[in-house]
Amino acid sequence: MNIAIVGAGIIGVTTAYELAADGHRVTVFERRSAVAEETSFANAGVVAPGYVTPWAAPGMPTKVLSYLLKKHAPVRLTLPLSGHDLRWMWRFTRACKLETYLAHRAHLQRLAFYSRQRLAALTDQLQLDYERSSGYLVLLRSEQDRALVQPGLHVLTDAGVAFKEIDAVAARQIEPGLNPHTALAGAVHLPDDGVGNCRQFALLLKGQAEALGAKFMFNQPVAQVNNAGAATLLIANETTPRRFDAVVLCAGLACSALLRPLGLHIPLAAVYGYSITAPLKSDMHIHSARDPLQAPLSALMDERYKVAISRLGNRVRVAGSAEIGGHAEQHNQAAIQTLYQVLQDWFPGAAQLRRDRNSAFGPHVQHWKGARPMLPDRPPLIGASGIPGVWLNLGHGSSGWALSCGSARVLADEMAGRPAPIDTQGFGL
Ligand SMILES: Cc1cc2nc3c(=O)[nH]c(=O)nc-3n(C[C@H](O)[C@H](O)[C@H](O)COP(=O)(O)OP(=O)(O)OC[C@H]3O[C@@H](n4cnc5c(N)ncnc54)[C@H](O)[C@@H]3O)c2cc1C
Repeated sequence: MNIAIVGAGIIGVTTAYELAADGHRVTVFERRSAVAEETSFANAGVVAPGYVTPWAAPGMPTKVLSYLLKKHAPVRLTLPLSGHDLRWMWRFTRACKLETYLAHRAHLQRLAFYSRQRLAALTDQLQLDYERSSGYLVLLRSEQDRALVQPGLHVLTDAGVAFKEIDAVAARQIEPGLNPHTALAGAVHLPDDGVGNCRQFALLLKGQAEALGAKFMFNQPVAQVNNAGAATLLIANETTPRRFDAVVLCAGLACSALLRPLGLHIPLAAVYGYSITAPLKSDMHIHSARDPLQAPLSALMDERYKVAISRLGNRVRVAGSAEIGGHAEQHNQAAIQTLYQVLQDWFPGAAQLRRDRNSAFGPHVQHWKGARPMLPDRPPLIGASGIPGVWLNLGHGSSGWALSCGSARVLADEMAGRPAPIDTQGFGL
């Protein structure tokens, strides 16, 4: 088939690779000048399938309300909220029922485990190197934090995830750079989970897709998707639509606007988050008896603040916050301060956070705000849209990197009319 893909984030790139590997003629249209320039740019990079669970969970609305007055809150509302945000929150609240949560969690985890398997297979087969590290450590600052994670540990047991609840001494052996002066009651260690640079993976997989014949068209915003007679795309500033046998929408948040004229109302909302990324100090500056690098070795999660700390090659990334309302350009300084605080608590002195006097290039730290493309009340949409020729791979919310390789393979099989590698119940419209 001659297939167009809209969007070259991690979902569009993995989809392009799988469809090209199946022998299709693939063209990817991307409005930016490179792959992974939006939400896939600087996420935490964590791949932990046992923790891929719906945010719409029992007790969540009360939890969100209790966070609102806290300085280092993991969830924030930027007022005034739009009508769209309020409607989205209403649907989200309604999905927080236990029965709905359990069904969605089962679908998500099935996809997440398969996705990790597919990611590992592609990594081996194509020899991809994208700043990977193994192991995920969930840090529990107090006994109260330990008590609060217990229901989550039952979820991991039910899902067959390998994990160990360990004490502070064992946690510090796994991550020797952890600050001994910050209180640590214990941790949960997941040896099979880990972290990798999502953007770097996207860049490498784009190269592999191109080697299979896929074409990437950058600076080409798609203005309209149509299905009158055949699947067609109208690129901004062009007058003649381009025809394809099929169009796959992987445009993240922008999918809602592209699908609305076709009569499909997909309630995506931006749930913003932040990351800071900084180079590690060179060994010369930070000799210490504890650990010469004083830096994280892999991925950690500060459970109290819901902030991830990731080792990405010679850099450290700290990511977190869930913010509803506001704009991509409007950075909440309190949320960013929380990231610095968590890094300072656990790995003080590991990263170059200040401007280097000899550097002409300004501060070393990259600040980033990303918009999770979040559906309020369901797992991602993967498969046929119901509109002939138009296919969907969208709404991956907080776990798009962890779900990307599996979602792409599932979609490619569905488009080929082959049985999917996993039960796809829960992902269709
Ligand atoms: C702070 C933060 C931390 C995160 N941490 C993790 C994590 O640890 N693990 C994890 O699995 N996930 C994580 N995520 C979530 C993950 O980053 C997203 O789920 C994922 O990047 C979504 O990918 P996408 O391809 O759907 O969207 P995007 O990456 O946004 O890609 C969509 C693409 O479509 C393009 N596009 C849009 N409209 C058009 C148009 N009209 N024409 C042409 N192109 C168009 C855009 O330019 C963009 O490149 C995190 C997110 C945030 C914000």
